[in-house]
Amino acid sequence: MSRLTEHYRLLLGLDAAWEVSEVSLGLEEKRVEISLEHLGGRVECPECGAECAIADHAPARTWRHLDTMQFETRLSARTPRADCQACGVKTIQVPWAGKHSRFTLLFEAFAISVLQACGNVKNAATLLGLDWDSVQAMMERAVQRGLERRALEKLDYLGIDEKSFRRGHSYVTLLVDLTGSRVLEVVEERTEEAAHALWQVLSPPQKEQIEAVATDMWPAFVNSIESNAAQAEIVHDRFHISKHLNEAVDKVRRQENKALAKADDDRLKGTKQLWLFNPENMSEDRWIEFETLKDQELKTSRAWAIKEQFRWLWEYRYAGNARKFFSRWYGWAARSQLKPIVAVAKMLKRHLENILTYFRHRITNAMSEGFNSRIQSLKSQARGFRSFPNFRTRILFYCGKLELLPNDVTH
Ligand SMILES: [Zn+2]
Repeated sequence: MSRLTEHYRLLLGLDAAWEVSEVSLGLEEKRVEISLEHLGGRVECPECGAECAIADHAPARTWRHLDTMQFETRLSARTPRADCQACGVKTIQVPWAGKHSRFTLLFEAFAISVLQACGNVKNAATLLGLDWDSVQAMMERAVQRGLERRALEKLDYLGIDEKSFRRGHSYVTLLVDLTGSRVLEVVEERTEEAAHALWQVLSPPQKEQIEAVATDMWPAFVNSIESNAAQAEIVHDRFHISKHLNEAVDKVRRQENKALAKADDDRLKGTKQLWLFNPENMSEDRWIEFETLKDQELKTSRAWAIKEQFRWLWEYRYAGNARKFFSRWYGWAARSQLKPIVAVAKMLKRHLENILTYFRHRITNAMSEGFNSRIQSLKSQARGFRSFPNFRTRILFYCGKLELLPNDVTH
């Protein structure tokens, strides 16, 4: 047995102050129980680091450790309590686990890797043989650790973007580091207050370094940028702009479809998707169907052509040429007599300066497409989320590029 205890002592990376006093195998319950014992001597106060005498020992505790050949493995120990002159009697920090954790550091590191690999708490809990709450708590600790260690130096390009959350009109707003491709913070709602709260993660000097922020034309976001990083240029996100244009085309289509239906004309029925699709991504069949439609004398065809024309704006290299193009496009759109199109054109004209900033910075909120789809899948699991904080934890865990592993895990 002594070779086995020594084996575990080495495996656990224990220092000379600890020894493995017993290893018991429960063959029936498929369990390994490792008892650890402190050898006495001086200990370190967990608060101030002073060397102290041992006052007494805390009651025995157990920690879940990595399985040994599919045997669930637990450590148990009575932890000495330091008798510190300055701080009083304090339970010392054990080398194998974090404060207040029921798991060893190695187990937590393993669990975090499992969580990363399976992408959701439920599957990870099943694989680890733990309940949902324990895994959730581990995830929260990991995110907390990661946030404390996170470096926010040298930020230059940010994005502020909203995502729908629960059903109905419920939103969360994200602050994204576009260069580092990571989510920095998530808040509930998309009000000015919410957007303002996002900026709290940055210190004043960090805010001053921001060169530009990509965002929709939503006033709450724009105002928050102006009051938190006045020097930063605002770049209205091109994907939001195309979304506004798409919505306008669809409004025209719905109105026209209603009018046509009265005359028993159902040409536009069920064609919503055709007008929104990027022609380059359309299948051959759909393209043929669409081509005959778009060449007819329809208001919807005109609205579509105006929307498609706008995409050329992004092809320019210089803001000056893009501005000239815009003014031609605007003339066409404004004369179209298609109310939804005219409305969007006017909005774009009002925001033109902050659209043309794109040609200096070339940033969009779609740059981090990878985690946009990740957030989408987190949201689809979100049916079971009891609260916004859980959703935030998941977004930061999977999209925050945080250092999640416990510090002291030595491999
Ligand atoms: Zn102390």
